[in-house]
Amino acid sequence: MTEIPRSCDVLVIGGGPAGSSAATHLAQSGIDVVLLERAVFPRNQVGESLIPHIWKYTDMTGVSEKIEREGFLAKAGGITVWDDKIHQILFSDFGYTRPGLHVERDIFDDILLKHAESCGASVFNEVAVRDIDFGDSRWPQAFYTDKRGHGNHDGAIRCQYIIDASGHSSFLANQFKSRQTISSQLNFLALWGYFHNSRFVGVDRCSHAEQDLTNVKPVTLVMSFEGGWLWHIVLRGKTSVGLIVPTDRTRGMDRRQREVFFKQTCASLPYLSQLLEPASFIEGSLQFRPDYSYYSTNVCGENYYCIGDSGAFVDPIFSHGVQNALYNAAAATLAIKESLKNSKQRLRYSQLCESRMQQFYGFSRALSLGDFGSNGVNPGLVKNLMKSLPPLELELILVASEMTNRSDNFRRLAREAGVLGQFEENFSGRTSVAIEALNF
Ligand SMILES: Cc1cc2nc3c(=O)[nH]c(=O)nc-3n(C[C@H](O)[C@H](O)[C@H](O)COP(=O)(O)OP(=O)(O)OC[C@H]3O[C@@H](n4cnc5c(N)ncnc54)[C@H](O)[C@@H]3O)c2cc1C
Repeated sequence: MTEIPRSCDVLVIGGGPAGSSAATHLAQSGIDVVLLERAVFPRNQVGESLIPHIWKYTDMTGVSEKIEREGFLAKAGGITVWDDKIHQILFSDFGYTRPGLHVERDIFDDILLKHAESCGASVFNEVAVRDIDFGDSRWPQAFYTDKRGHGNHDGAIRCQYIIDASGHSSFLANQFKSRQTISSQLNFLALWGYFHNSRFVGVDRCSHAEQDLTNVKPVTLVMSFEGGWLWHIVLRGKTSVGLIVPTDRTRGMDRRQREVFFKQTCASLPYLSQLLEPASFIEGSLQFRPDYSYYSTNVCGENYYCIGDSGAFVDPIFSHGVQNALYNAAAATLAIKESLKNSKQRLRYSQLCESRMQQFYGFSRALSLGDFGSNGVNPGLVKNLMKSLPPLELELILVASEMTNRSDNFRRLAREAGVLGQFEENFSGRTSVAIEALNF
């Protein structure tokens, strides 16, 4: 069993997309990085729909080819059925030459983590970080429990920088008590499970049997229903179905009752029930997560960076989670690399990084959470980001913002930033089609 070093330049907590990408960026620059992951990879994870924006980050770390080689399902875009209106987005309409993906996250995340290791990061599975002592600000110390082999062993490691990539357990935000749940009146619960042999929605807006995946490109289906929404994401050999419902709807239910609720709701909804007609639920696959929209008021400091879900997470409706994790990893490691060269400026670099990360987060939040999610978002930062996006990327996001009724803030900010007018005429109406257009 390889011994965990007693010190390193950068310690990364967690081996999801954020942590593994950060470790890769640093190792590729010759920085001594140790990554501690409490699970054994490959491990399960929700979040199977990836938008084409991820490729620019996977190109940066050099892992794109390994992802392509795995042969994940390429998706052409998305279809939403929202308040009885249908919208369709095709990535190719916006100049994207590479597809989005439907990925089994255990496999996808494992590719990224193995890539980090192959680039020189020291990766340890089954090691859970318990506490960070920031008493010595130049050399914070992390205390961990090593669960490898027989029994648990406690240990400690010193480092110059901590990257918290611990996902929704928000390790540092909990230690700092800076984690806030978004909105107390409108909290949602996510329930998701997997089916064998579901039909899927193709790029032609028709429903197809699973065998047709070799001929017809799939799209992600998102649909609103009674105060919530659902996703249908076809994978290789199974399909992920998730329901986002107001927490009140399942209050007081135990696990078995939630499973009954999940199956009954899936069977009662138009389109979804038709897709699932020949399908069988994979018993034991139901999972749920309450209050999943949150943020931390403190994500970067002179010796720590909270990236990916550890710092914030908004509603997954626009599949921004993995993209955000990869973006944060690139931004934080750039700041750390500069800080290692010029330690006098390290506070300044961390502040710049915080502002960049809050900007992207505010952007996602304005896009996904309607009016109720606007507290804490800095509108000026979001507008600046809108103005700096490449035109086609901006147009794609603006079209996406018409697909649901969640993006009122976003469209208002886009108008104020002066970026809506130039595209509005071009796209409005183009993507909305009559409900009958779905040929099931
Ligand atoms: C219901 C739902 C649906 C979603 N759908 C999508 C989607 O379709 N597309 C999309 O892009 N995103 C989606 N997401 C979001 C996406 O899954 C996350 O944004 C993404 O996984 C974030 O990556 P991460 O590396 O920050 O965290 P994670 O992937 O959660 O990885 C964190 C890792 O840290 C480890 N860890 C935690 N604590 C410790 C500790 N103390 N010590 C050591 N290790 C630790 C964990 O074991 C884990 O492996 C969805 C999220 C939810 C809740």
